[in-house]
Parts: sequence; structure tokens; C-alpha cells
Amino acid sequence: MVPPSTSVSGPAPDLANPGAPVRDRLGRRLHDLRISVTDRCNFRCTYCMPREIYGRDFAFLPRSEVLTFEEIERLARIFVAEGVEKLRVTGGEPLVRRDLPELIAMLAALRRPDGGPLDLTLTTNGSALRQLAQPLRDAGLGRVTVSLDSLDDDTFRAMNGVDYPVAKVLDGIVAAGEAGFGPIKVNMVVRRGVNETSILPMARWARDAGHILRFIEYMDVGHSNGWRLDEVVPAAEILATLDAELGLESVPPNYPGEVADRWAYRDSPGEVGVIASVSQPFCSACTRARLSADGKLYTCLFALDGADLRGPLRDGATDAELSEAIRAIWRIRADRYSELRSEATTNRPRIEMFAIGG
Ligand code: SAM
Repeated sequence: MVPPSTSVSGPAPDLANPGAPVRDRLGRRLHDLRISVTDRCNFRCTYCMPREIYGRDFAFLPRSEVLTFEEIERLARIFVAEGVEKLRVTGGEPLVRRDLPELIAMLAALRRPDGGPLDLTLTTNGSALRQLAQPLRDAGLGRVTVSLDSLDDDTFRAMNGVDYPVAKVLDGIVAAGEAGFGPIKVNMVVRRGVNETSILPMARWARDAGHILRFIEYMDVGHSNGWRLDEVVPAAEILATLDAELGLESVPPNYPGEVADRWAYRDSPGEVGVIASVSQPFCSACTRARLSADGKLYTCLFALDGADLRGPLRDGATDAELSEAIRAIWRIRADRYSELRSEATTNRPRIEMFAIGG
């Protein structure tokens, strides 16, 4: 289903120049594609896939509905021809998808229209990195981001919902370093009353190990986590905690529209970032599209529905037809959920994060 259009006006699409990068109604380019390769995960993080809801009886997508590697590669190639320069493989937990290095090799072989390589990266909970880091690296994966919410074993086991020991994730991160990934990014979601006391230990550990730590404000994605605004620790508070102990100074973004606000340590090498999607939304610079495991294209993390690309793909659409479908969806995009967030919007139905890809 193509998302309904809204009354927001914006720059006229460049219909006269079909080769020009497509822009949405707010003038935003299509630059990043996040590809969810599965809706399944071996963790049950309380803020994402709480165990009470996603138990043994939960019906995940049947295999026939999940895009094959060939289908993913074909769509990715079309997106790249439309100007996408960065691919992030995600899920669910991407490393539970069988033979993932094969897909990585297929994606790593794609080239931008100017012949340059893509920025190919993957977000994982790290639990299978000891086995898979080297095969992923050998397949051509460029970078890896590991989600890790605490170094404290009890806190981590409680947050991941499956009593998974933190030592195994830390070993996975070491394996990623040994395989040649670096610097490794680590994402920590901060939830008030749950893991704020982990902020400083995580910062010290990441700084000493040379990892780039990103603190993420707890977001109202999906509905099953029962999100409340008072559980969000605002980025300003996280930064004040870090600055008081470790001393920070602001660093300019790597590129326009980078979602993380970057900070360097005043007295030692290394940097941290904050992703303040609740307290300081960055919708105006959002150039990200998301492809779900069943082939729906979402133009916002907070969308209710996506546009089905799998149907036309399996019905024999040509590359040109798929390309035009993607351009048409992007042209009418006017999403800016986080900027419009309010009590009213948090009650609106929307897709769960594990289904759409984080
Ligand atoms: N399983 C992989 C992982 O753990 O990184 C990839 C998918 S996961 C949905 C991607 C990221 O979304 C993780 O860093 C996770 O912490 C984050 N996430 C999930 N729910 C969130 C929420 N409600 N607020 C902020 N971040 C969230």
C-alpha cells in the first residue's frame, strides 16, 4: 500500500529530469537504506520485544513471506541507482538469518552510479559475533554497530529479557575487533530507572577500548513497550553527567544530517554521541528509508504502514517499474513524526521496531 498523501506542500518533484536524485516533499534526499533481513530475534529486550508479548506462540513471518537474498540484492541495487549510498543491515537480529555472509557479499559487490563503493554496515546485538565477525568481514562488511545497554551483568540480563550474559557480547565485540572492524560503534538505549547508572561505566569502557559509544534516547517506537515520556533520559542530562566526570567538547558532524550529536573528550582521545530523537528531533535532515523483512518500504520509523514492494517484485515488475514505484513513494513523503510528537501522537498505531528494522 502506498502511504496516503498529506496536505504538506514542498518543492515540486523534478519530473522533467528523471536522472536527478529523488527528493521528498520537504526536499530531503534518499541517501540511506536500512534493510531488515528478519523479524526474529534471540533477545527479548524489554523496550523492544517484551517476552510477555513475543513468547513461544507469537507468529513471526513465515519464510515464504521473507525476501530472499536475491530479492534483497535486486531492490538494494535499484535503491543504489536512485542515489542511496549507505546500506545498514538490521532486523530483528540480522545474525539469526542463515547464511548472512552470502547476502553481505552480494551487497558488498554493489557500486554507486559513480563507481564508488557503498558504506555497508550492520547493527547487531553481538551475541553471534564470535562465530560470524570474520566471515562477515571476509564477505565485505565495512562496519559494525553493536547494541549494548549495560556492562553490569544483572542489568544487562534483565534488559535483554533472556538472561543473556554481558560477557558473551563483550567477547563478540572483541571478536569483531580481531576480524578487523574498527572503530566499532556501540549503541546504548538509556531508560530511566533501569540503566542510567551504566552511563559512566559504559563511557569509560568504550573510551579505553577505542569504541564509539552512542547514547540513544528511549523512543516511543511501536506499542508493546508501554513507553512513557518520564522514562526518557534526555540527551542533555546524559551529556551533563558525562561532562561533569569526563569533560566533553562538541565535534562537528561527519556529514550533514548525521543523527548523532558528537562530543570528544577534552583530555583524552575518543568520542561519544547522543541520538536525541525525542528531545531534539532531526526529521528535517532524515534521508532514511527502511525495507522490512517482508519487502515493505517504510519512510519513517514511526510509520503505521509501508508500501509493498514484494508484490510487484514477485509479479515480474521490471527494474524500471520498481525504480519508479520507489521514486513515487519517496516524492510524496512528508513524514516528520518526531517533530510532531505529542501525547496524541504517542497513542497513534504504528509498526514495531523489530519488524521495520532499527
Ligand atoms: N537486533 C539488532 C540490535 O540489537 O542491534 C538490530 C535491531 S534493534 C531493533 C536496533 C536498535 O534499536 C538497537 O540498538 C536497539 O537498542 C534499538 N531500539 C529498540 N527499541 C528501541 C526504543 N524503544 N528506543 C530506542 N532504541 C530502541
